[in-house]
Amino acid sequence: MNTSQRLANILQRMSDCCRRCGRESQPVSLVAVSKTKTESQIREASEAGQQVFGENYVQELVAKSENLKELALSWHFIGHLQRNKARLVVQHCELIHSIDSLRLADEINRQADRQNKVQGILLQIHMGGEETKNGILPEALPELLQKTASMPNLSVQGLMTIPPPAEHPEDNRPHFRHLRELMNACNQQAILNYPMTTLSMGMSDDFEVAIEEGATLIRIGTAVFGPRTPKT
Ligand SMILES: *Cc1c(COP(=O)(O)O)cnc(C)c1O
Repeated sequence: MNTSQRLANILQRMSDCCRRCGRESQPVSLVAVSKTKTESQIREASEAGQQVFGENYVQELVAKSENLKELALSWHFIGHLQRNKARLVVQHCELIHSIDSLRLADEINRQADRQNKVQGILLQIHMGGEETKNGILPEALPELLQKTASMPNLSVQGLMTIPPPAEHPEDNRPHFRHLRELMNACNQQAILNYPMTTLSMGMSDDFEVAIEEGATLIRIGTAVFGPRTPKT
């Protein structure tokens, strides 16, 4: 299968899954994760109709975004972000999925202000209790939200998570469900003066389970572009 066929296949599985779980009215969008993939592979996906691409290294994001400018793609940042790279990411990205600290949120807000922009962000939640994963603990979310609520150049659109490695997609269901419940709870408390609506969860191996649990953005690399070498 080529990229365009794989893309069509994923979109079909997404819409089948939405129909099965009665989600036609709350659609799901695909972020094609293009990390390590070439510009010509991204072009091919774009020609097949894909507009939103996810990257996790700043240098790679900037190069691709600049070289493919004429395609007017939408770039999402999905990797761990250091504050000294915030300026570039704000410059190139419509949505940043991986805000995991107050200091980073503050810096993004500052850079967005300088660039005269309101930056869409998601807060990355650490699920499953593994020490090495990035993200904030669920317990710390209300306080972080409270603080970001006063940052005028941030639009906190929702939450993102990367569950710990699992043997079976079903193993991730509790984490996906937890993320949805967490967003709903924060919305009910009206910590922000607008509701969060985005749940970024689900990858190549488990996106159908994520959709069943309420994902609105799924991040798919391998199943769109084929396997990555070397592994990232
Ligand atoms: C690489 C990556 C993905 C895509 O993973 P696949 O299993 O290839 O679909 C999704 N989200 C994040 C944060 C990633 O780094």
